[in-house]
Amino acid sequence: MDITLLSGAVDAARDDLIVFLQKMVQAASLPNEEYEVQMLIAEKLKSMGLDVKIVPSKFDDLRKHPAFGDDGFSPTERINVVGRWKGTGFGDGHSLILNGHVDVVPVGDLTLWDGSPWSGAIRDGKMYGRGSCDMKAGLCAGIFAVDVLQRLGYRPACDVLIESVIGEESGGIGTLTTIVKGYTADAVILLEPTKLELCPVQSGALTFRLTVKGRSIHAAMKPYGVSAIEKFVLLLNAINQLNDKRHHNFKHPLYEDPNNIAPINVGTVHGGEWHSTVPEEVVAEGRMGVLPGESNEAARKALETAIQFAAEADPWLSQNPPRVEWFEGQFESGETPLDHPFLQKLGEVHQQVTGSAPIFRAVTYGSDMRLFTNHAKIPATHYGPGDVGMAHAVNEFVPLDEVMTATKVVAMMITEWCGK
Ligand SMILES: [Zn+2]
Repeated sequence: MDITLLSGAVDAARDDLIVFLQKMVQAASLPNEEYEVQMLIAEKLKSMGLDVKIVPSKFDDLRKHPAFGDDGFSPTERINVVGRWKGTGFGDGHSLILNGHVDVVPVGDLTLWDGSPWSGAIRDGKMYGRGSCDMKAGLCAGIFAVDVLQRLGYRPACDVLIESVIGEESGGIGTLTTIVKGYTADAVILLEPTKLELCPVQSGALTFRLTVKGRSIHAAMKPYGVSAIEKFVLLLNAINQLNDKRHHNFKHPLYEDPNNIAPINVGTVHGGEWHSTVPEEVVAEGRMGVLPGESNEAARKALETAIQFAAEADPWLSQNPPRVEWFEGQFESGETPLDHPFLQKLGEVHQQVTGSAPIFRAVTYGSDMRLFTNHAKIPATHYGPGDVGMAHAVNEFVPLDEVMTATKVVAMMITEWCGK
């Protein structure tokens, strides 16, 4: 399609897009409260003539899947919306999923916000509000890419699916539902905030709990007890050494910082009962990063082995081994090879629309991408407007010009990838 024509048509839809994005942001959609925004999106997709399905996430349908994790939210009224723009079936092309999540993280301390987190207020070309950047703007760009192409009378040869999902922030049961229910395509764009960089590689993350036993005694008799806190420090050092070693040994060209690919962080430490008692127990919880190409099992084994090794070197710990448990989020890493034709095509389209060379990057956070690459075997990338540094932040915002550019790139990509 002619780029000037397409670009002009997206610009002409700017006001409509902004009004719709504002409504999306104003529909507060904390986990379990996504129903309203999902209905808004379903109505919009229906008005565009898409074949719209409401797809509820029910734990019982998902429990057997290896990527399932109960995120603790009640499954009633947690729905996903899938809109299918049916291809003509003629001509060469590939199908495409545009995926976005509508759940948002809590707003935190309200007094730190300038105005309501659900205002959708516009100042200096930016729209503010929880979820504006992560990632209602991206999803809105995907919806309007289709909307504008329809206004231009374009019909793809192959299907374009818009998936508006829940539960991404708490582990991905929305996208998992769409996969289990059989929704698939030849490629996926996850419209997460990447500042319009192509991010087809992500690290994983596993949560763990470490329990260290000591032997309590009155502090006045300390040499006859064993401090669990001091034993924990030995293990913490071993964890940090493991972190350094893993980063030293792993190389990947798309990561910005070679020392921050899959960090291991101890986030909470609870131990001891009383200042004058030698502590009996420490319980620490943390997050272990999973390297691209590494399985969750291998990452777990690496941590368990490092802890075991450190424990064996200590007389007390070798007799009273610390316990490692894995709980809650267990996110795999994910990756689509850089030379995949889908990524190459998206890079070309990005350059064509923006005039600048595409930037390929890897990200250190988990998202639904891994579900597509690992479990649905579909090539996928993150690509969208906004800065991930703004995601989950106070006064979250998205620059509207970037939303417009994303809309143009996604629309152009549809015409290039899906055929006509
Ligand atoms: Zn997100």
